[in-house]
Amino acid sequence: MIKILLLIVIGFTVWAVIRAYQRSLDKPSAPARENTVEDMVKCAHCGVNLPRSEAIYSSGDFFCTPEHKQLGKK
Ligand SMILES: [Zn+2]
Repeated sequence: MIKILLLIVIGFTVWAVIRAYQRSLDKPSAPARENTVEDMVKCAHCGVNLPRSEAIYSSGDFFCTPEHKQLGKK
């Protein structure tokens, strides 16, 4: 019984790691986190500057919010 529980725990861990990895692939070249100074990117809609990790990337442009991503490039 313990073995089954262990398998479930391991399976879940692997799944969580894969999910995290796939999420990191969504962002453009998510640089190794050792970079202390973060890249600033400009929202393609309103032009506000924000850290790349907080920006939403979509087909070559960055956006500050999902709303602006929907509104698209200005
Ligand atoms: Zn914006």
